Amino acid sequence: IAALIIYIKFQTPVRQMRVILALLRCIIRALKRNLVDSHLSSQIPMDVHTIVDCYDIDPTLHAFVACPTCYALYPLTDEALKNAESVFQADQPLPVCDERSHPDSAPCGTTLWRTCRIDHRTFVTPIRKQIFQDLKEWIGRIVATPGIEDAMDQHQQSSPPADGDPERDFVDSTTFRQFKGADGEPYAIPQVGPSGSPDLRLVTSLGFDAFNPFHSKTAHAINMYLLTVMTGKPSQHHINFTLRKLVKQLLPFWEGLFYVRTARYLLGRRVFIVLIPAVCDTEGAHQLSGFASHSHTYFCRRCLLQIGDIHNLVPETWIMRDPAQHRELALKWREASTEEERQKIYDEHGIRWSELLELPYWDPVLFTIIDDMHFAQLGLFETHLRDIWQIDHEQPGGDASSAPLVLRPAPSFAFNKDSAFEKLKSKMLDFSGKPPSLSKPNLQTLKALCQDLGIHYNSIDSKRILAARIMDYRQEHRDTPLKQTLPRHVIGRDLLEEVWADMKRTVLPTWIQAPPPNWGTPAQGKLSAEEYKVVCSISLVITLIRVWGYGTEDAQSRRFQMLLNYLDLVHAIHVLLLRETSWQSREYYRSHMQRYLETVLVLYPDFTLKPNHHFSLHVVTDLETMGPGHARSTPVFERINHSLQELNANQHLGEVEATMLTAYCRQANLQLILDHNADVRQDVDEALNALKNIEREDHRGM
Ligand SMILES: [Zn+2]
Ligand SMILES: [Zn+2]
Repeated sequence: IAALIIYIKFQTPVRQMRVILALLRCIIRALKRNLVDSHLSSQIPMDVHTIVDCYDIDPTLHAFVACPTCYALYPLTDEALKNAESVFQADQPLPVCDERSHPDSAPCGTTLWRTCRIDHRTFVTPIRKQIFQDLKEWIGRIVATPGIEDAMDQHQQSSPPADGDPERDFVDSTTFRQFKGADGEPYAIPQVGPSGSPDLRLVTSLGFDAFNPFHSKTAHAINMYLLTVMTGKPSQHHINFTLRKLVKQLLPFWEGLFYVRTARYLLGRRVFIVLIPAVCDTEGAHQLSGFASHSHTYFCRRCLLQIGDIHNLVPETWIMRDPAQHRELALKWREASTEEERQKIYDEHGIRWSELLELPYWDPVLFTIIDDMHFAQLGLFETHLRDIWQIDHEQPGGDASSAPLVLRPAPSFAFNKDSAFEKLKSKMLDFSGKPPSLSKPNLQTLKALCQDLGIHYNSIDSKRILAARIMDYRQEHRDTPLKQTLPRHVIGRDLLEEVWADMKRTVLPTWIQAPPPNWGTPAQGKLSAEEYKVVCSISLVITLIRVWGYGTEDAQSRRFQMLLNYLDLVHAIHVLLLRETSWQSREYYRSHMQRYLETVLVLYPDFTLKPNHHFSLHVVTDLETMGPGHARSTPVFERINHSLQELNANQHLGEVEATMLTAYCRQANLQLILDHNADVRQDVDEALNALKNIEREDHRGM
């Protein structure tokens, strides 16, 4: 009957019932073992919270009122609540955000509180709440758990790879090996602390999902530290209020924090933590570290190449960014007294202040990393399919050579196109009238005009040269009317059908999940990162070699050249995603990527390279300094994201973040007990196995 109540009253799914039944069997077995004690039933509490408290699985949280506009944070104390309550009772306006972005600006002024009615009573409550998990407490829980500390120590004692050996993890990378702690000594070599026990030295990476929650983690996949969950999306530097809370929690660990007792060391030990890579998609990474967006003139976080020169594929000619200078400019941005001054620094250098710079060791240039998933699968592969080959299941396929040879437009940069600009442009295109004078407009205007008209130019061009280019263009187009770039699809219906047919004939290894059978049609939706990888590096390779590789005798044929070019990309990404990296593999990646990009420019003269293509040549340095990508990849973060979405949060407005964070932490803390507490394990072993089985079913995608 108990089982029926759980099954029917709470509408528990059949699969979950399997775990519950296993738990019931565990309980009965435990009862038998302890003989039946008549007081036993009275030991089962009425409220589940008593059990939660007993096992101490609730995290320590700090609550803040967050400004809905600027994301400034105010401690949510009893006093703050009382104050808001009393102004409401006195019929005065509710407290507002008094954050000033710089000394001369007006305060933000957004109301922070709202009223709600529950059971005929009116309450005052924050419009937006943000909750943070306490890092110190979380680390305490981790080091108190037997097993985890051992694993961390083992990792710490691993020796660096010998000369010529591949690097397998972040700890093998030069950045980590050369990193100096607060004492100026190599961070990788733990010292003996005051209690006589060796220090525990940890490195954490920071992840930030631009669409979903915010989180940071330690190297261990299941033991991830979730800093906070926030609703809304702070723009630009508004993320700094949240980063400040993270930095404040991290700073004590730079000098080392002493835990009086850990699972392995009864006399306690010091724990150090440094934040090294910030791993995100491009947008997130640039925002976290205070770089401009990737459409800015200075679009690259590594070098000072201007976006107009993106087709310069000779890395030796790029001027690298200097972290010290970055810090200086970012400080200037922070100290600026007006918005205009800030904008000027941002426009000229593409830099904003980021709170991460408060970490004395933070190197924004080296530590900001675009994760492989967004860079390779959802970046380079997707761009090749969608933008270069313009895949379209409704069109017949072609070879992209029918496109009229319109010179590729220069990449865009920020420019405010006012009515004067539009007038200039229409005059320029009015071939019957007199050409407008180009001596008055400034340099930026002429560049924007070139861009709009698809005229190729170099960023170092002077006004005179730009004006000459524009006049040439006018001359050339006066007689032949402007041609629009015709769509030119390489992968059309015919080729897709070949691919789909080959996929049916292909047997994939069991650990590779097959992409949807009719991918490329709207019905199948957008491909995921993993599906792109399979489609691009397996399915397309099989079919294109068959169709383009053998169909022609002529090795110089366009399709054969397109195939070779594409395979360079596949080779490069394959090596990039390997679980280890060495100088040989990096050289392999570099040479293939370099050839790929150069050939793209030749084969597709109407295509403009994207910032990702430029980054792809910097990635060699990432591999060299940060080790292979898997140790810092976002799929680990994505998993958190997934589990957060699974959580059954009670959707009270303003409470979602708190509920999600608590639920996530409880799950993680319960897992700690289940994984590492031998007594508990023994009691509920059968139920755990049942749980594992249904999770495995989920993993297979049912
Ligand atoms: Zn505000
Ligand atoms: Zn660059």
